[in-house]
Amino acid sequence: MFTPDLSGLQACIDDVKAASLDSDSGPPEPTAFPSLMQRLETSRALLPKVFQISTADPFISSLNGIGETGYVQTLATDPTREGTAGLLLDIAQAILQKGEGYSPDATDAFLEVVADLYDGFLSAEDRSGIKMPERVIVPPMVKWGNPDFGPYTWPFDATNHFGVKNAVVSMPPSNTRSGLMAWSALGHETCGHDVLHANAGLQGEIARLVRAALAKEPPLDDKHTHLSSYWATRIDETSSDVMGILNMGPAAAIGLVAYFRGLSAGAGSPAKLRRDGPADDPHPADSLRGYLAAATLRLLSFSDREGWAKAIEAQTDHDVGAGNSVRVAGNKITQEQAKISARIVAETIAAAPTHILNHHSLLDIQDWRDSDEQIVVALRTALLSGNNPSAAFQPGVYATHVVAAATTAALAGAAAPALLFRRMIQMLKALSTRNPTWGPLAIVHRGSIARDFVRQQGFSASQAEILLVVCQELEVLDTFAPPLTDANGNPTGSALGTRIDQTFIDIDNSDKKKPGTKARLAIFTDNIKKRLASSDLDLEPQELVRGDFKTVDLLVFHIQTA
Ligand SMILES: [Zn+2]
Repeated sequence: MFTPDLSGLQACIDDVKAASLDSDSGPPEPTAFPSLMQRLETSRALLPKVFQISTADPFISSLNGIGETGYVQTLATDPTREGTAGLLLDIAQAILQKGEGYSPDATDAFLEVVADLYDGFLSAEDRSGIKMPERVIVPPMVKWGNPDFGPYTWPFDATNHFGVKNAVVSMPPSNTRSGLMAWSALGHETCGHDVLHANAGLQGEIARLVRAALAKEPPLDDKHTHLSSYWATRIDETSSDVMGILNMGPAAAIGLVAYFRGLSAGAGSPAKLRRDGPADDPHPADSLRGYLAAATLRLLSFSDREGWAKAIEAQTDHDVGAGNSVRVAGNKITQEQAKISARIVAETIAAAPTHILNHHSLLDIQDWRDSDEQIVVALRTALLSGNNPSAAFQPGVYATHVVAAATTAALAGAAAPALLFRRMIQMLKALSTRNPTWGPLAIVHRGSIARDFVRQQGFSASQAEILLVVCQELEVLDTFAPPLTDANGNPTGSALGTRIDQTFIDIDNSDKKKPGTKARLAIFTDNIKKRLASSDLDLEPQELVRGDFKTVDLLVFHIQTA
């Protein structure tokens, strides 16, 4: 059987430890309100369009709303920066750091990874006929800071207090230059927390399923262990681990082991996964997370899954120590109970169909296949052979693969983590320069164009033609200011970013008052299908009314890729 090469594991742990001892806290906190507002305005203009609309504009207008007094008060009432002030300052830093060019290559690399991770779930959901998260489709912003907190995220339901429409993910500033394994943890934050919070009700449903699955196993879940409650009340963190692995494969699983060991070493403890999971910790015990990672890998489709799962289980066994128990919220469980419960939890989270996802499982949405492994092998060779970022410019290659390649190359001891880190950043930066999400068209949800496409449908009208038809038909439907088409009927420069969701809602409402006539939205969708000669195009009036397409470009991309 395949056995992964982990001869570089110690070097990776040392790299995490060194990064965790680096106390660089990044750019200082902005204090004076007027200068903050000025800097935000300047930075706003330099952001990709997508972040101007979804992050900077609503945030600046929220701050104008609370004014200097509100700002000073907010900062004063949250001195530890773990509540509202922490959130406010993190959104500000995300805008300022991107606009002012703080560690620009690492920032662009970070943005590229989280956008890809986020997109991976969304695009696959879209394709499998599973409903999109109704809350947010814009990729997260990123920032550097708070070294003591490690990687973390403010999901959409938090940032939305300031009107912001996307999550903000943070990493310690030392991870701009070292601590490779922290990057493999980004799947946990972004595919995990951010996607979970974007699907209202998903967490609750998964928690109920996990509780029920464990409660069926009396030797596991009894009055001595309370295991079903233990896992169910940690579902946000537990599902995030599982979802990170579904999206990044074995690199996320072994990266977690190396990362935790390095952090423990940095904190002056032995470089081991901890056996104790305190009652007040929302995360399961480290060792349970090791077993959970191994069990999740076994559910993926790639051929080497069993070899990887065994290796991670062995690393976890080693840290628990033969005959030792694991403590869950004060209760002792055996190693065997830990493993079996982790397997049941992984299977439930990954493979159980949920109502929220139209009876699909998370594994239906995202899997790690041999084709992903082949891409990672090719990228590893490119990373090791020298500075060749363009190796990533191949169809099907995404930022997630680049992080997986750097992580597994370092773990195999193929090169020093520091060297692989630098080359990974260059490769990710190169990828980001080719990503239309960051361009002037504010294209979000890029993955629906290409990622993991199993089957291209027979629809070939070019984007320009679709844009032309959509703009002309929209102009028939309503009057837009500024107009979507010029005197010759061609789309104008500002057409792509124009908001259209309210138009659809208004027209639908007014047509409902006039029964008997054919609804204008039905005429609109029929005309588009007719003119593009695509009668089986998936575009229905109710999708328009539901607000799936907030702007012209989203509608165009839906048509292009549906
Ligand atoms: Zn977490």
